[in-house]
Amino acid sequence: MTTDKGIHRRSLMAGAGLAAIATPFVAGATRTHAQDMESDSMQVADPPASDSFNLGDFKLLVVEDGSRVMDNPGDTFGTGQDPETVAALLEENFLPPDQMVNGFAPVLVDTGSETVLFDTGMGPAGRSWGAGRLRDGLIANGYQPEDIDIVVITHMHGDHILGLMEEDGPAFPNARYVFGEKEYAFWSDDARMGTPAEGGHETVKKMVVPLADQATFIGGGDEIVPGITAMEAFGHTPGHLIFMLESGDRRLLLAADTANQYVLSLQRPDWHVRFDMDKEMAAETRKKVFDMVAAERIPFLGYHMPFPAVGYVEKTGEGYRFMPKTYQFKL
Ligand SMILES: [Zn+2]
Repeated sequence: MTTDKGIHRRSLMAGAGLAAIATPFVAGATRTHAQDMESDSMQVADPPASDSFNLGDFKLLVVEDGSRVMDNPGDTFGTGQDPETVAALLEENFLPPDQMVNGFAPVLVDTGSETVLFDTGMGPAGRSWGAGRLRDGLIANGYQPEDIDIVVITHMHGDHILGLMEEDGPAFPNARYVFGEKEYAFWSDDARMGTPAEGGHETVKKMVVPLADQATFIGGGDEIVPGITAMEAFGHTPGHLIFMLESGDRRLLLAADTANQYVLSLQRPDWHVRFDMDKEMAAETRKKVFDMVAAERIPFLGYHMPFPAVGYVEKTGEGYRFMPKTYQFKL
C-alpha cells in the first residue's frame, strides 16, 4: 500500500468514526474522566492493539500502528474488474461491497539476542487520524524505542517508512538499518523526479536517505540474523522483500505487501491492484509466494491482513482462502 492522499482525505471522517466506536471498549477502568475525554478527542485506542506469540525461540510482537476506512475496495484491489463481480465476491465473504478497513501491522521479532523491527507504520504523519501508534504499542509491551537493535524495511512505501523519523530525529535512535539494495536504489534516484514515483522519492529522501550511513543493503537470500532470511518478492514495488523466520522447528513468512486484501487479493490473486507498481509481476509473485505458503502449510504475516495479521492459506480454485491464526502458537 502507498499513502494515497485521495484515499486519506476520503477516509478521514469514516476512520475517525470507527475509532470512536472502539474507544469505549478500551478505556481503562483506572482512567479519569478527563483522560477519557482526551482519549475520545484523539479517537484512538490506548494503548494500540497488539498481539504477541512465540515462534520457536523467537518472540513476535505485532502492533496495530493504525487503520483506516477505504471506500470502494474494488477500485484498489480489483482494478479493471466489473464492479458487480467484485461486489459479489465481497458479499459472498460477508463483507460490505462499498467500504473496507485497512490496517498496518509492523512486527517486532525478539530473537533473544537481538530485537528486529520490520517496518515502522505511519509515524507522525498518521497521528492526526489515529495512526502512528507503533512506538506506543512497543512501549506498552515493555520495549523502549532505544531497545530496538535493527530496523528492517520491506519496501519504501509511506505506510512502511514514515515511522522511521520522529519530529526530533530517528524514531529508533540506537538501531542499525537493513534496506533492500534494489528498493533503495530505485526510490533514492533523482531520476524519479517528474514521474509518478516523485512523491515517494521525496519521502525516501526525508525518511530513509539520512539513515543510509547506518544501513546494510541486502538482496534475496541474505540472512539478517540467524533464522531470518530475505526473499525477493518484486512487483508491488521494484525491490519489495519478504522474510522467512525459522526458529526451532517453526517457520513463519513475513509476506509484507505481497497480498493486501484477504479476500480480493488472495481469492483472486490475478486481479490487478492499484498500488502494485508492476501489476503483472506482482500477480505472478503473489501466486508464487502463496502457492509456497499453501503447499508448505506455513503461517504468514501480511502487513495489511486483518489484525493481528497472521494466518494460513488453503489453495482453492482460482486462489487461496485465508484462515486467521487461533491457538496454533500456544501449543
Ligand atoms: Zn503497505
